[in-house]
Amino acid sequence: MTARIIDGRRVAQALRARVTEHVATLPFRPGLAVVLVGDNPASAVYVNSKDRAAAAAGIVARTIRLPADISEEALITQIARLNTDPAVDGILVQLPLPSHIVSQAIVEAIDPEKDVDGFHPLNVGKLAMGQSGLVPCTPAGVMKLLADAHIELGGVRALVLGRSTIVGRPMASLLLAANATVTMAHSRTRDLAAECRRADLIVAAAGRPGLVRGDWIASGATVIDVGINRLSDGTLVGDVAFDEAVARAGAITPVPGGVGPMTIACLLENTVTAALRRR
Ligand code: NAD
Repeated sequence: MTARIIDGRRVAQALRARVTEHVATLPFRPGLAVVLVGDNPASAVYVNSKDRAAAAAGIVARTIRLPADISEEALITQIARLNTDPAVDGILVQLPLPSHIVSQAIVEAIDPEKDVDGFHPLNVGKLAMGQSGLVPCTPAGVMKLLADAHIELGGVRALVLGRSTIVGRPMASLLLAANATVTMAHSRTRDLAAECRRADLIVAAAGRPGLVRGDWIASGATVIDVGINRLSDGTLVGDVAFDEAVARAGAITPVPGGVGPMTIACLLENTVTAALRRR
């Protein structure tokens, strides 16, 4: 069997086009504020691409660049300003933050209604309770890929590999809400291979290149690879050994070109959702 390739670039492009069309019909332009602290080069690249994507969709994007040595208190003051700024519908603080700042304190300072990353405890709690709030962009993007590929979720055995607050946990909540039977695996899981073999759907978000081997995958299973790992030669690979997996899976996302492009597209959608709820 050769797996069907789930093309994240195509699905993301279509979502961005829908968001752009939607924004064009609005009597106002939604506003997104992206806060970048310090000069981490990877963060700067992410922030620039978010900025460009927002502008292309008709969203007014503003990047607030702050020095690496800003105090936690001063950063919270900046966020408080954005919370009360009527032109700002979405606030995103690019992570990681410098080590002297407690990220959770910053996330909690964001108005939950403007929390387009979906990391505020109120939005996390809503998601866990199956209520509608702002949903973290990467797992939201995975759900859209699954829907676009017509992957049945009701009653299927889904394995989420990784339990971070950014990907694994919200992913499990979303799959549960879609009636999957969800197992969460993590670094302390005893027999990961056996857990994978039982799954109809694997969502891998461990940040370990090639962790999931081809013979861990049940024939015909769906494999969503969230991992983005840069090898020493500069190549980007996922958490799944793709060449092996493609011979076993029924459908699979590549890296790059799978989940990655969905994250920014969902950020744009979250910004419009936040704007419509607020205004
Ligand atoms: P994280 O480091 O916060 O969490 C990793 C999780 O994987 C942990 O819960 C850990 O228990 C688990 N894990 C680690 N090694 C394991 C092992 N050997 N066996 C089983 N479980 C193991 O990472 P994260 O922020 O959740 O990101 C995970 C991956 O997804 C990274 O590669 C990251 O770059 C990528 N990512 C991609 C996107 C995207 O847009 N596609 C967005 C966010 C993260």
